Amino acid sequence: MSEAECIFCKIVRGEIETEVMHDEDEVLVFEDIRGRAPVHVLVIPKQHVASLEEITKLPAPVVRRLFEVSSMVAEKLGVRESGYAVRINNGSDAGQEVFHLHLHVLGGKRLGMP
Ligand code: AMP
Ligand code: ZN
Repeated sequence: MSEAECIFCKIVRGEIETEVMHDEDEVLVFEDIRGRAPVHVLVIPKQHVASLEEITKLPAPVVRRLFEVSSMVAEKLGVRESGYAVRINNGSDAGQEVFHLHLHVLGGKRLGMP
């Protein structure tokens, strides 16, 4: 999928509205439209990267920042103490729907492994 059509690139460009939770130079955080837990946000690089197979396209500090921001928003959303999951669905068996790399930050309830 091209960056022009990518739904998360459209969110980055402000062409689709979302509940933005945090916005900085290279990373954006917004609420998942179909929240599956009391806390469910998506942490994305603003640069289009389809999947983990393309991770080397992202500068290393941005990769690191995705995890730092995940921890930061978990704190902001009050789940740092109770715990949270950071999940990447990669490819069809994982149910990846949007081919723009994103980290799901989930919390506020007991989360098991599938
Ligand atoms: P996945 O690709 O399986 O990791 O999941 C993509 C996630 O993006 C799903 O949890 C969707 O609910 C979410 N999603 C899709 N479109 C939007 C949107 N416009 N705003 C917020 N979240 C979205
Ligand atoms: Zn994209």
